[in-house]
Amino acid sequence: MPEIRDSVRRMCADFPGEYWRKLDRERAYPTDFVQALTRSGFLSVLIPEEYGGSGLGLRAASVILEEIHRAGCNGAAAHAQMYTMGTLLRHGSAEQKTKYLPAIASGELRLQAFGVTEPASGTDTTRIRTFARREGEIYIVNGQKVWISRAEHSDLMLLLVRTSARDDTAKASDGMSVLLVDLREAVGHGLTIRPIQTMINHATTELFIDNLKVPAANLIGEEGRGFRYILDGMNAERILIASECIGDARFFVDRASAYAREREVFGRPIGMNQAVQFPIARNYIETEAASLMVEKAAGLFDAGEPCGTEANMAKLLASEASWRAADTCLQTHGGFGFAEEYDIERKFRETRLYQVAPISTNLILSHVGTHVLQMPKSF
Ligand SMILES: Cc1cc2nc3c(=O)[nH]c(=O)nc-3n(C[C@H](O)[C@H](O)[C@H](O)COP(=O)(O)OP(=O)(O)OC[C@H]3O[C@@H](n4cnc5c(N)ncnc54)[C@H](O)[C@@H]3O)c2cc1C
Repeated sequence: MPEIRDSVRRMCADFPGEYWRKLDRERAYPTDFVQALTRSGFLSVLIPEEYGGSGLGLRAASVILEEIHRAGCNGAAAHAQMYTMGTLLRHGSAEQKTKYLPAIASGELRLQAFGVTEPASGTDTTRIRTFARREGEIYIVNGQKVWISRAEHSDLMLLLVRTSARDDTAKASDGMSVLLVDLREAVGHGLTIRPIQTMINHATTELFIDNLKVPAANLIGEEGRGFRYILDGMNAERILIASECIGDARFFVDRASAYAREREVFGRPIGMNQAVQFPIARNYIETEAASLMVEKAAGLFDAGEPCGTEANMAKLLASEASWRAADTCLQTHGGFGFAEEYDIERKFRETRLYQVAPISTNLILSHVGTHVLQMPKSF
């Protein structure tokens, strides 16, 4: 892992704060950065060697994203390219894997859009309404999705749809299916993508789906089992996003402690005041603890063990550690924390996302309260 960390750091050195600030101002996609990540093979670490990837585990991917974020960069522009293909890898047919995985590994095809969330269903995924009706060898899809990131910068998208109405299934999580949508064909032929302006530069969008035709050959796995297929992908996603938070937290602790050592007010470094020093020390401790949970969750995932609870706990601890470290770092910088050129205010905004997406903190607390501690569910 130290070699991976070193090479990610070297690559990130070519993308300094100035690069990200300009993109942030313009709300533009970091194409050069994503191309550099692709060329260096970092985005295909999880793809097995037989399909052209490096066949490494989730821990390797986690270290890559952590280092990207620690360097002040942002992996969100492409992180889904790492793990979204996992659904295809684990549940796709031999033909689908041979057709797509080598092209995804080489970067020729981008699969970095993942369409789950809908305006009316929110976190309650079983209530999605986007429906795919099978007619012979095609599905006709109708519905709407929201917050679908990177759809404008992706060639393919995994789309979660209902293929049976919720009321017609034994369990609410039955009757959903995953379709691989070729965005190059779909846009303008039943699919409209509309960007959403947000407080961060995240290339997120809403999708309007109106009689979109998707070949039945693009169904992943069996019809009706889609929810199960995306769940293990979601564990990978939570662990990797937790790793980004660890990277953010380390960025903030590095910056805050450096500034506290150097900045002199009242004739001494501000870090000599324990009211400035102790919050940074606490952030460091919280980050190290959260990082252990991320390692534990990634280890379980790589061993093929159940890891839903650990993935959730890692995401909660890491996102809270990064947010608290962001707050301390901003406070430590005083007025300069608000100046664009320090990159603190940008990272501060960016790291806030992770308490909401890909799953919000309350829902993690509910998972632990009900699934682990067997207390009654409130909904
Ligand atoms: C920038 C961005 C990028 C995203 N990218 C993607 C993407 O690429 N693909 C995708 O499918 N989705 C994406 N999402 C969606 C994201 O996963 C959801 O926003 C997130 O899961 C929360 O869902 P929601 O926004 O519908 O909130 P809601 O479900 O409406 O919840 C709102 C608030 O109420 C709380 N809440 C809801 N129910 C309960 C309860 N029973 N008990 C206690 N509290 C509750 C939640 O914790 C939350 O704080 C993205 C979101 C954002 C903001």
